[in-house]
Amino acid sequence: MQPDINDEIDIMGILLDRVDYYKASQRIMEFLESPGAKIVVTPNAEIIMAAQKNKKLKDAVNSADLSLPDGIGVVLASRLLGRPLEQRTTGFDLMMELLKMAADRKLSIFLLGGKPGVAEDAAKNIKKKFPGIRVAGTHHGYFDESGEEKVVGIINEASPDILFVAMGAPKQEIFMAKNRDKLRCRVAMGVGGSLDVLSGKVRRAPVFMQRAGLEWLYRLITQPSRFRRMSVLPLFLFNVIFRRGK
Ligand code: UDP
Repeated sequence: MQPDINDEIDIMGILLDRVDYYKASQRIMEFLESPGAKIVVTPNAEIIMAAQKNKKLKDAVNSADLSLPDGIGVVLASRLLGRPLEQRTTGFDLMMELLKMAADRKLSIFLLGGKPGVAEDAAKNIKKKFPGIRVAGTHHGYFDESGEEKVVGIINEASPDILFVAMGAPKQEIFMAKNRDKLRCRVAMGVGGSLDVLSGKVRRAPVFMQRAGLEWLYRLITQPSRFRRMSVLPLFLFNVIFRRGK
């Protein structure tokens, strides 16, 4: 079933689906039944800002089949635009839902991204946490355009049901959009730094901070190098207010 146009929200030219985890999982289940690779992206304030200057990123995000509103910035922007989203839907949490679904249905996954060794460690932990899941393959995310064809070949050889692409923005979004017709999988989803968390390399914010919409603060405290990246949030909200009604 095609989504209703009212189920979308446009934030600075980036289209987001107004979905919660349940609806997102339903859509992905439909994708798993249909032919061809479907792309899932999770734009946050940082990606929306970067897309204003990066047309490839903007086109890649807007050509996705499902675009989840990730991050508290996007939720605040939706309120400012009078089309409030109830909650943020993080790539990490949706990935958890999909891993559970994959284990229940004996589906196969491929983990692409992170420094060498990270995807393998994440795979070990995933197999422990989600018995029954089939890990069709893993590959690190440090290759340039000349290495892309080889990586697509490795993924296609493994032919997973779900491909998780954890190379950060804009690399993961552009990789998925560019290769969507070549990729032999049902769903490809961009999941940012999720493999770092699943490998045990990076910790997620405590649940109370996640619930309070303060995950960004935790990441800022634990990874101060993110300050420059995060400083776009006030600018993002300013832009949303400024463009309102235009
Ligand atoms: N990464 C990668 N290839 C690259 C650049 C980055 O695989 O060329 C990985 C990096 O190792 C990290 C992830 O992409 O695991 C990006 O994490 P970040 O925390 O920046 O993503 P976010 O969750 O904020 O989107």
